[in-house]
Amino acid sequence: MAVTPAINDAPSQDDLSRCVHCGFCLQECPTYLQLGIETDSPRGRIHLLRAITDGNVEATPALTSHLDLCLQCRACETACPSGVPFGRIMESGRAMILQQGAAPRSWRLRAWLLRQTLPYPKRLRLLFNLLRLYQRSGLQRLLRASRLLRMLPGGLSEAEEKLPHLPSTSYEMKSDGLPPSASAKKVALLTGCVMPHLYPRTHEATVRVLARQGVEVVDVAEQRCCGALSVHAGDRTTGRALARRNIDAFLQAGIDAVVVNSAGCGATLTEYGELLEQDDAYADKARRFSELVTDVNEFVIDVGGQAPQVALDIRVTYQDSCHLVHGQKVRNSPRQLLASIPGLELVEMETPDRCCGSAGIYSLAQQEMSMNVLDDKMRDVAATEAPVIATANPGCMMQLEAGLRRHGLKGRVAHVIELLDEAYQAEEDTN
Ligand code: SF4
Ligand code: SF4
Repeated sequence: MAVTPAINDAPSQDDLSRCVHCGFCLQECPTYLQLGIETDSPRGRIHLLRAITDGNVEATPALTSHLDLCLQCRACETACPSGVPFGRIMESGRAMILQQGAAPRSWRLRAWLLRQTLPYPKRLRLLFNLLRLYQRSGLQRLLRASRLLRMLPGGLSEAEEKLPHLPSTSYEMKSDGLPPSASAKKVALLTGCVMPHLYPRTHEATVRVLARQGVEVVDVAEQRCCGALSVHAGDRTTGRALARRNIDAFLQAGIDAVVVNSAGCGATLTEYGELLEQDDAYADKARRFSELVTDVNEFVIDVGGQAPQVALDIRVTYQDSCHLVHGQKVRNSPRQLLASIPGLELVEMETPDRCCGSAGIYSLAQQEMSMNVLDDKMRDVAATEAPVIATANPGCMMQLEAGLRRHGLKGRVAHVIELLDEAYQAEEDTN
């Protein structure tokens, strides 16, 4: 993948100076709630980043560990009365530290690993085929039974435990939905890097639900990973290279919208304009592209969202995905879609908009904190006695599935769109 020269990144003084130190964000920050120390709060992290940006302190490992522990969930953004753009500050702060060569080895290694895998569909396919073989050959069962997995270094054993059972095939774009109506909108689905392998069922359900609304879904084969994980890890250079590729691919397709069913990807796509604002060749195109991006829940509501006619009779609790509710400010549409399903009882958990601890690769890199945050979440889930957890992001789906297993809870996790699809399918089955 061609990577053009780096743009120098750093949190802007304007962004940093918006913090008035009021502390309203503290009680919304999962890591502050866990640890109770200022350096692991949004306000403390802004203070640290300001000191590094101003050259008053060095980015030592002790200091960057507080930045590392941030989930980048952006709950602090929602809570902040001064409009501090915390996500942007943290992303550009990490990028600045990486570019200055001051980053710990773990940051450089993480950015390199992401750069070597996510942009390359063939490498990802090979990786997931190997994982599938591992799960289906009996090797996984053998290793788990022998407890040999526990001897793996670097948290690999915990990562292995979180791997969901992979479906037998990955997602392939198919044009077998209902025929579009004459006034159909033409859209493309962002398929993403790992989602076609982990949750092909979500993409398949999304295409069926869009077709049901009379929308034409076209394939954009040239698309690539959205770059979110690289951007969060501070590698904005790789993020920009992926953004340019996606902008060219989707704008050429002549579509009305880029529909996204992964909240984390959606938040990054809507911010391509910002990511490329210093790139003269792409700044305008990036803004135009970002305006086309829409979360699938919002899109279905906007096009009329046909209510299913057959009852599902299930009790569901909804976990807001951070990058949907805090990143894209989408809170109501998923709930509206769930409420449109006859027989579905929506039971709100305590703090549904608090992070589940997934946060992209955070659940692998910061396992202890990720598990502590997840344990709190699963207690809230259990209190609802709902056997179905609905959410809107593959990372959250994986984390919550791991939470069900870890807490010995019976139940399942589904994307909101999958539940809507189930209702439509039930309706078709009765006709
Ligand atoms: S709520 Fe906003 S202004 Fe107040 S301390 Fe937090 S980030 Fe700063
Ligand atoms: S992004 Fe989340 S974890 Fe990070 S400081 Fe804000 S609330 Fe805390």
